[in-house]
Amino acid sequence: MSVPAVLAAIRQAEAQAGRPPGSARLVAVTKGQDLPSIERCVLPFGSFPLGEGRAQELRDKAAVRPDLEWHYIGTLQRNKVKYLRPVTLVHSIEAVWQAEAIAQAAQGWGRAPDVLLQLHNGEAQKHGLSGEELPGALREVQATGLTVRGLMLMAPEFEGLGDAERDARLLALFTDTARRAHDLGLSELSMGMSGDYPLAVRAGATLVRVGRSLFS
Ligand SMILES: *Cc1c(COP(=O)(O)O)cnc(C)c1O
Repeated sequence: MSVPAVLAAIRQAEAQAGRPPGSARLVAVTKGQDLPSIERCVLPFGSFPLGEGRAQELRDKAAVRPDLEWHYIGTLQRNKVKYLRPVTLVHSIEAVWQAEAIAQAAQGWGRAPDVLLQLHNGEAQKHGLSGEELPGALREVQATGLTVRGLMLMAPEFEGLGDAERDARLLALFTDTARRAHDLGLSELSMGMSGDYPLAVRAGATLVRVGRSLFS
């Protein structure tokens, strides 16, 4: 695949869902890719936000290309918050202290990134806020002064299921996430990766985080 092929698949899924073209945006996930690869495989095809999942790697690349739009999509540790200065959107807030730390650091930066709240996906690996925690966390994160734009979901692998069963489970999970965002009055939905982004677009994703498919 390549950026044009992924964009075509996004457009096709938008059309199938009766959504306007461009209502789902590609976040090009560039973690583990060096700048020459990004400049060769991504940048010729348009200006996309670039999603990084490791804070130092983000810092190093953004220092060379501050002209690009950088998003942070990874797990956030307290001592790494200082590296998020170039970021315009943090997808992966899963604890109120993370938002507080970003808001505090942002006072020194002169501007603050917007954020998404990461929803737990039901898997044993514990990342994200549960559905029950979400409304309270939203209020507390908003109280930090940061703007909460929406929700982020990382879907489980659903290993051992057939394709049809897996797709049905994913679609149900994406649709549930979209409903939760709607109920909270949040408009951005970051969901869908290389293996499942057309399904995510069908369920209402506004940001799809695709990595491997852009570089293979
Ligand atoms: C790596 C990563 C992606 C992209 O996954 P691919 O399978 O490479 O498309 C999306 N979201 C998060 C949070 C990631 O860490």
